[in-house]
Amino acid sequence: MSCSAIVGINWGDEGKGRMVDWLTERFDAVVRYQGGGNAGHTVVNEYGKFALHLLPSGIFRPGVVNVLGNGVALDPESLMTEIREVTARGVSITPENLKISDRASLLLPWHRRLDELEEQRLADRKYGSTKQGIAPFYSDKYQKKTLLAGELFDAEALRSHTEQLTEWKNLVLTGVYGASPVTVDELMDWLTRFGEKLKPFICNTTKLLKQKEQEGKRFLFEAQLGSLRDLDFGIVPYTTSSNPIAAYAPVGSGMPWAKIDEVIGVVKAYSTCVGEGPFVCEMFGEEAERLREAGAEYGAKTGRPRRVGPIDLVATRYGVEMQGATGIALTKLDVLSDMAEIPVCVKYELCGEETDDFPFPTMLEKCRPVLTSVPGWKKDISGVRRWEDLPREARDYVEMIEKAVGCPITYVSVGPERDAYIERK
Ligand code: GDP
Repeated sequence: MSCSAIVGINWGDEGKGRMVDWLTERFDAVVRYQGGGNAGHTVVNEYGKFALHLLPSGIFRPGVVNVLGNGVALDPESLMTEIREVTARGVSITPENLKISDRASLLLPWHRRLDELEEQRLADRKYGSTKQGIAPFYSDKYQKKTLLAGELFDAEALRSHTEQLTEWKNLVLTGVYGASPVTVDELMDWLTRFGEKLKPFICNTTKLLKQKEQEGKRFLFEAQLGSLRDLDFGIVPYTTSSNPIAAYAPVGSGMPWAKIDEVIGVVKAYSTCVGEGPFVCEMFGEEAERLREAGAEYGAKTGRPRRVGPIDLVATRYGVEMQGATGIALTKLDVLSDMAEIPVCVKYELCGEETDDFPFPTMLEKCRPVLTSVPGWKKDISGVRRWEDLPREARDYVEMIEKAVGCPITYVSVGPERDAYIERK
């Protein structure tokens, strides 16, 4: 068996979508193992430009089986909208190339509502949720208080389980938030409307993947977000509510026995971060605005302007370690092409001392970046396809990152298009 994972090393939005889209030609199955429709993987290919939210990025490749594993937050309504939008642009999505785990839990309309209610309650202390219901969904999953996709096939049992869940959830909605209650009929209508459309895609994906393993097929595990958004190892509480780290991939994919041979960590050539929370290397003012514009740093899902900064070697080294990355894909190197000097965050200063270690989350607010700068290349590199054709300063920049984080940079991406990359042998 051959298993690879493609993961984010930083705060998300590193450009995983385009890397998976391109790498899928080497794999037979692409499996999303965590998270929900709150991601926005941008893919540019012969069909156009797409922001995929829940669909695995292998969906554009004929012959690739795409799986939504048991670890994802499966929102039937937003998935159906996404399928409709993507198929309308000429991409074929059928029960043959998309399989949904019968063990995936359903994100229900009240999760979205609770997400909003809680962010409203937090007011200026909010976590910066995308309000897609992800945190309330995972809380319920771990309390075993939501529905599994496979339950859609037994109408009688589904109604009885829905009644129990509604009784409990209304206590929270009305008692904690003073919101209006939900009726069982409302929820059953929603489940019928979207569940029926979902059913043809649902199966025992673990069995399917086992079969494929026996046939010698190759698997690519796809994550959303990045190491610093991991529920256990990220910048808690400004994280997501699941585990984007590669170690979770076998579990969330439905192949808990799988050994991952290769972990490709995607790192952006500079830093970006969406939403709230500490971001030590953040840049402000005109310099930040220029970088944001050059990199078109606006959220794929929300359109929010992303916070930007220089590459953060402390956070990147930590991210690489937490992912167990075996190789790095460095993206958006072309975005830095206009800079005469490129700033780099080499260490943090914490309580008067310099450190290379990524601190405990509550200490991050007290950290200051220790910055240096390296010479830029001041040349358009978007057409370069061979390592030796990159300007020397660009190669030096890549090698400086590689050395600092202790992991080989095997791919360098110089544009959003499928072929705009350099593979380093
Ligand atoms: P993901 O969630 O990690 O897939 O990242 P996003 O899709 O949110 O953000 C990456 C953005 O950068 C998208 O708009 C991509 O089209 C774009 N992109 C990816 N790689 C490159 C690159 O090498 N150069 C440039 N200029 N844009 C890139």
